[in-house]
Amino acid sequence: MQRFSISQSVNELQQTFRSGRTKDLSWRRSQLIKLKALITEHQAEFVRALQQDLHKSEQEAWTSEIGFTLSDIDHTLHNLSSWAKPRKVSTPLFVQPGKSYLLPEPLGTVLIIGAWNYPLQLVLAPLVAAIAAGNCAILKPSELSFTTAQLLANLIPQYLDSSAYKVVLGAVEETTELLKQRFDHILYTGGEQVGKIVMRAAAEYLTPVTLELGGKCPCIVDSHTDLAVTVARIAWSKWMNTGQTCVAPDYVIVEENFADTFVAALTAKIEAFYSANPKQNVDYGRIINERHYRRLNHYLEGQNVIYGGDVDPVSHYIAPTIVMSPKLDSPVMQEEIFGPILVILTVDKIQQAIDIINDRPKPLALYLYTKDKNLEQAVLQQTSAGNVGINDGMMFMANPNLPFGGVGNSGMGAYHGQFGFDTFSHLKTVLKRSFWFDVALRYPPFNSTKLNWLKKLL
Ligand code: NAD
Repeated sequence: MQRFSISQSVNELQQTFRSGRTKDLSWRRSQLIKLKALITEHQAEFVRALQQDLHKSEQEAWTSEIGFTLSDIDHTLHNLSSWAKPRKVSTPLFVQPGKSYLLPEPLGTVLIIGAWNYPLQLVLAPLVAAIAAGNCAILKPSELSFTTAQLLANLIPQYLDSSAYKVVLGAVEETTELLKQRFDHILYTGGEQVGKIVMRAAAEYLTPVTLELGGKCPCIVDSHTDLAVTVARIAWSKWMNTGQTCVAPDYVIVEENFADTFVAALTAKIEAFYSANPKQNVDYGRIINERHYRRLNHYLEGQNVIYGGDVDPVSHYIAPTIVMSPKLDSPVMQEEIFGPILVILTVDKIQQAIDIINDRPKPLALYLYTKDKNLEQAVLQQTSAGNVGINDGMMFMANPNLPFGGVGNSGMGAYHGQFGFDTFSHLKTVLKRSFWFDVALRYPPFNSTKLNWLKKLL
């Protein structure tokens, strides 16, 4: 899209918002129903696009992208009228008689910038929230997952009101141009460096941002755990989408004397999932592109690879791989892995895991597998993370009643369910007073009697 047409598009959306059309609840509902129809009627094409972009299996495409978004729409449709209602709050005595409430109002025209790893869900779930809250929106899917991005760009104008919702395709140049425009909110999903670019650009107009970033997600595995269930859940959450998941476990911390038992059980589970030759397995994906393939290979240089390590530059295949006890200052422990390599660190006592985690930026997700309630409390009280999974990986994403977002370097703000609706809303404060009973205590002329009464009342 040319520069002129980007600014023209934003302008058109702003005009649509000003018309008030998007505020009508039945209109919002109709757009959500059309979005649901878009996904339902083109499921097979989305599965093919995700297969082409990321070699995603049909089951993963459905659970983590298509089905996820459809259930998000259903949940939103089911709850929309209650989310949009005025939210009554109590009114203290000195403001009586009166009524106080928060009135959710849409922000206006918002920008949604997606990442490539879940190219459908990461633009459509924020869009569901933006529509529900009554906004206009521009979607900028990632150029790296090009097939899915193009499919979205083709289909969205066929289903949604294109004077309210538009897709902009492109890479840095187009995103830079978009970021020069005035939006009322920006929701960005991606890496930290671009997150800073987005926030700097947003500062120009004092535009609020939601940054859904990443980082290294630690996973503590206590020896007092159900080992069979633990390794199944770790293997599932790590190697889904070939480890290219922002909340995939990045490194596991185990006690030294439990490490062999854990690794044996984990590698057996990997083979049960993907066979001894994952390259031939239809359920196992590929790395998105050459750059990320090389980045991941670089992490393996000079490391103690105790499992996997097979690679294929032609298909960007990297086997499920385990690296044992890398130096903490090596790239694999300094950067987010975001691929099928799992690091294992060992400690003498599992409580030492807390220091390892606290030595690093606050993670997007932290996992703990244990039956020990004291350890559970110690980890919850002494660490910080956007989201915590106790005895499971990533499943907090499946509960629409939980917000999803980071803290510190892993992001700011959150969405999913009502939290998404609220992210794209302003909760306008309203206090309605009665004309009846107008106590004059606050009005001049002041005197000590009035002041004494006010001191008692306030
Ligand atoms: P990416 O390369 O797809 O970039 C994200 C978006 O930023 C794209 O739309 C891209 O066009 C745009 N972009 C890239 N460079 C830009 C620039 N210089 N200026 C303006 N815009 C630019 O994705 P990525 O950054 O490789 O994403 C991976 C990261 O995202 C990981 O850190 C991962 O953990 C994180 N992530 C977070 C979540 C979450 O929900 N918190 C979800 C998925 C991924």
